[in-house]
Amino acid sequence: MSFTIQNVLIPDDQGYKTVDVQIQADRITAIAPNLPAVGTVIDGSHQLLLPGFVNAHTHSSEMWQRGIIPPSPLELWIAELYEFTPLDPEQAYLSAVGTAVETLMTGGTSVVDHLVLIPGQELETIAAAERGYRDVGIRAFIAPLIQDEALSAGIPTGGDEVKHSSYQATTEAMLDLLQTAVEKFHRPDEGVEIMVAPTGIQLCSDALFAGCIELSDRYNLNRHAHLLETKAQQLLAQEKYGCSAVQHLQEIGFLSPKTSLAHCVWLDDHDIEIMAETRSTVVHNPLSNLRLGSGIAPILKYRQAGVNVSFGCDGSASNDSQDLLEAIKMGSILHNVTDFDYLHWITPRQAVEMASLGGATGLNRADQFGSLEVGKKADLVLYNLKSLSLLPRTDPIGLLILGRPVNVVSYAWVNGKQVISDHEICNVSVNDLAEKLFDQSEWNPKRKSAAVAQTEARYRSVMGLPEIAIEQS
Ligand SMILES: [Zn+2]
Repeated sequence: MSFTIQNVLIPDDQGYKTVDVQIQADRITAIAPNLPAVGTVIDGSHQLLLPGFVNAHTHSSEMWQRGIIPPSPLELWIAELYEFTPLDPEQAYLSAVGTAVETLMTGGTSVVDHLVLIPGQELETIAAAERGYRDVGIRAFIAPLIQDEALSAGIPTGGDEVKHSSYQATTEAMLDLLQTAVEKFHRPDEGVEIMVAPTGIQLCSDALFAGCIELSDRYNLNRHAHLLETKAQQLLAQEKYGCSAVQHLQEIGFLSPKTSLAHCVWLDDHDIEIMAETRSTVVHNPLSNLRLGSGIAPILKYRQAGVNVSFGCDGSASNDSQDLLEAIKMGSILHNVTDFDYLHWITPRQAVEMASLGGATGLNRADQFGSLEVGKKADLVLYNLKSLSLLPRTDPIGLLILGRPVNVVSYAWVNGKQVISDHEICNVSVNDLAEKLFDQSEWNPKRKSAAVAQTEARYRSVMGLPEIAIEQS
């Protein structure tokens, strides 16, 4: 399909200019004023065109638990999350659709889904999410979340002897599963990629990392993991390796330009140097870090050291939404409190570049998408500058990033295919989705987690918190 967006505002070095943009098949073929129209004509007047953003870290099935987990740190939050995680692939399908829809409606055209797998139905989970993303038409990087250690191993021992039960699946089984997923679903030309994604050092053996590196090299797959999200993980790395997690990941060869790492809250200056040296990407998830009290990632330091940074929403149970513009806003202004030198602060235009080109760079695809350039894939978003929340006319990007944009995306395309038209999602019915989400859930504000009750005493002791009486449910 070919189309031409006429009279649209795009940013340039001086501010903004009005141009026409031609798209043929899946690519941008021309950007200039007054181009001859090819294919369908889209009226771009009073609209701002930007490259699509990347929602560079999320867990789609957490959508089923958004809003319900009480304020608690990651190590307790995750115990509750896993206790109530959905067990039906149809739910995984619906939450992938929901994640894609919310990402698209807030300026994203790509999503990295660090997908929690249903035990015993791992491939079915991946198939369901893949079908959801294809149905909506978003560019999907599916990163099956694998581990080979039990959840309790993710909390430092504090020097005590702690016995962990063994994980439900072996390292080999996890790697075999990943290989099957690659063979079945990895289709970069069609906008669906599989990534290798051990959940993180806290729950993965070196053998699992080594197997992931081997698969990544063999099939040219991107690599993804959580990294030093919490203070507890920093302590755990010291117990486990006798050095920082970043040093260890460098030693075993996991860090590379194909590697994106979610959170990166607890890195020191030497770790930051390693991240820059290995050209690894930091995925900043500010809302999740605040929600779980994980800390403020040193994003300004990363940028000064030349480390690529992109933005993620993180799963909807730690955010509790997939509003990418909200994550970008928070991820930009949060750091102003960490450095008095305002010249280091992130400007709205820098935030846009981090979310688009930074996102593509983190996926080793900066040559293919992430900016408005001839030859690049047409992953494009039009923002309606007559939307109330983008008025009055001041600086469109300033207001888009610093304001509270509501329903501002009027059109969007992925790989040159239209996914939003006149503020509506094209390929699935959002009303049907809402009906199904409503019917398959129930209000449950008094839910109690037995898993949290089991873990809480040890967590409090290791973290030096006062003892409390814990009610076993
Ligand atoms: Zn995560």
